Amino acid sequence: MVGCAVALGMGAVLRRDERSTAGVQMDRRAASAAAVVRAETQRYVETLRTTAAAVGAQQTLTAGEYATVMAPLHTMKLAGATSIALVVPTGHRDVERVQRTWRDRGAHGLRLSPVGTGEHAFSVLAVPLDGGSATAGLDMMQAAAPAAVLAEARRSRDVAVSDTYQLLVDQGVPAAQRQHSFVLAAPVQQGIGQSFLGWLVLGVRGQDFMGATLRAAGSGLADLRLEADNADGRPVTVATVRDTAEGRADLRRAVEAPVADSMWTLRLAARRGSLPGADTGLPAAVAGGGVLLTLLTTVLVWVLATGRERARARVRSRTAQLVEEQSETKRQAVLLRAVLDSISDGVGVIGPDGHFLLHNPAARQILGREAAQDCGAESWQRHFGLYRPDGVTAFPTAEMPLVRALAGESVDHVEMVVRNATHPDGRVLSVSARPIDTASGRRGAVAVFHDITDRKRVETELRGFAGVVAHDLKAPLTLVSAYAELVAEALDDLAAGAGAPTLGQARQGTAKVLHGAARMQRLITELLDYTAARDATLRIERLSLPTLVDDVVTTRTDAPEQEPGARPDVFVGPLPEVHADPVLLRQVIDNLVGNAIKYTPPGQSPRIDITARTDEDGGVRIRIADRGIGIPDGEHAAVFDSFHRASNGAAHPGTGLGLAICRRIVERHGGRIEAAPNPGGGTIFAFTLPGAATHAPEPLRSAESQVSPVHVHLP
Ligand code: ADP
Repeated sequence: MVGCAVALGMGAVLRRDERSTAGVQMDRRAASAAAVVRAETQRYVETLRTTAAAVGAQQTLTAGEYATVMAPLHTMKLAGATSIALVVPTGHRDVERVQRTWRDRGAHGLRLSPVGTGEHAFSVLAVPLDGGSATAGLDMMQAAAPAAVLAEARRSRDVAVSDTYQLLVDQGVPAAQRQHSFVLAAPVQQGIGQSFLGWLVLGVRGQDFMGATLRAAGSGLADLRLEADNADGRPVTVATVRDTAEGRADLRRAVEAPVADSMWTLRLAARRGSLPGADTGLPAAVAGGGVLLTLLTTVLVWVLATGRERARARVRSRTAQLVEEQSETKRQAVLLRAVLDSISDGVGVIGPDGHFLLHNPAARQILGREAAQDCGAESWQRHFGLYRPDGVTAFPTAEMPLVRALAGESVDHVEMVVRNATHPDGRVLSVSARPIDTASGRRGAVAVFHDITDRKRVETELRGFAGVVAHDLKAPLTLVSAYAELVAEALDDLAAGAGAPTLGQARQGTAKVLHGAARMQRLITELLDYTAARDATLRIERLSLPTLVDDVVTTRTDAPEQEPGARPDVFVGPLPEVHADPVLLRQVIDNLVGNAIKYTPPGQSPRIDITARTDEDGGVRIRIADRGIGIPDGEHAAVFDSFHRASNGAAHPGTGLGLAICRRIVERHGGRIEAAPNPGGGTIFAFTLPGAATHAPEPLRSAESQVSPVHVHLP
């Protein structure tokens, strides 16, 4: 708005300047036109005055002399001048005399034509100045205007100018071509006495007189009109020039121009636009240009301002986007970290230099050691304790899955053993690795470690399992088929009437067949128990350990096959109530009591102590000790493996699955089972049931330390 106001203001100022310039120009033009008009009229007046003096200087003026005096006027270019005549005053009675006088002086054809009867003034000598003919003899008094100027000239003894009127000589001219004319009259004084001879009268047609002069003064830019005030006060146009171009004149000036004894008025009218420098269009250009510039600047400022705002908005939205992306990235990172932290497989990532970038807790746990940042591939073998699957050969660095992946290879399921302080027994790992592009755009590698120790053990177990099952079922089957054949032969003999020995053989064979079938049945039962011990759902409930043990012991000791005298001597200490699966716990105790009875030297009565102790942390430890054949040193841990039979137990029937079942059941309850030599002979089996106590443990209460028996001492 300020810019527009300033531009419009400047335009207005320039316009005012132009207007005043136009005014000044108009004033100058008016002044110069007036000066031109003045100078021109002055020239006529001076010429007439000089000529009058020259005429007056003649002693006796003849027509010839008059023509001579007038001769220079032809060359003076007196525009508009029609004729110059000598007019003499004549009384009405002197007309004849004057006519005769001037005819004598050379105006041969002169005929004075008096009008009226008063005083006359006749042109007696006349010289045409416009190339036409001059008529002498006219009575100047017949028209008011020339009569008045003659009187005035005579009175003032100087040149006088008449009002405008129709020249007497123009009375024959068509009305349309008639001009306003005037006459200049100069008194002619003759001789030394300066007697008044008459007047020298110069007739001038106004338009012709001033037309050229005014055109020069107007320079084609203004209308000019020369007005004379007639005696009646009515302004009469003497000459006019219309020069302005199209359009209405809006500048006017009027200046006085003295002509002889009169004061004429010169009027100028011009159109402002036609004056040079008066209407240049500059103000409009300045105002328009200024407004345009202001508007452009405004638009520019607006564009810049809003552009900045737009840029700010873009920055804001980009920042918000970045923040969102950042939080999304963080969320992803947290998610990734959570996934890595929660999965059971170990994940480790190394950079191009072979150093660990990250590894998850599972990797730490599986490898057993922290992966140090500065730990390069060449030191991994020693750092983690990595071996080939045989467990003894150091794993070569070049074959390590991560090293191969770093070289661009995809590696799957490479098995290795990790053995260190955390895993003294060693764990079997399956490692897969892939090359990856790290954030820096360079190659790294990622590895996944899967602990397959348990799977390997199961595989090994299964292999042994298959072998043993095949062997242990095959042996009794062979026996069964052999003895069945024997029985068949005996039956044939019997049918043929053969003797008693054959019947005895048949009986013995039948017994063997039954025995073999029983062995196979037991093996199958135990195999089912072994599987059930792993797969059966645990049904933990509160149960009375004394009742359970009582039931087992009674069942075992009341077995019909027991030889008299070999009755077990069972000591049962105080036992608590526990939380456990009754069926599975009964199986454990039954196995242990059964073994204690079974692995007693022949002829010796089994001696069994069953005690329990409640731990401070709410666990219950149950101990079953015997005085049997014992387990050879170094085999106390192995007897818990499936199908393992101690080297000294071959004489006793068995499958080698009983203790494996016990271990499974105890471990499923979260406890541990172990065997140890019983000082003084025999074996002590002990197992724990964590959190199985039904009451808050009483401090220092130890059932084992109490000696008073509460239950059986079977005969
Ligand atoms: P099984 O008794 O059917 O052979 P077990 O798994 O019950 O299988 O026992 C594994 C081995 O441990 C037995 O073969 C035996 O050599 C030994 N063993 C188990 N209990 C005793 C015990 N109370 N005294 C001596 N040796 C035992």
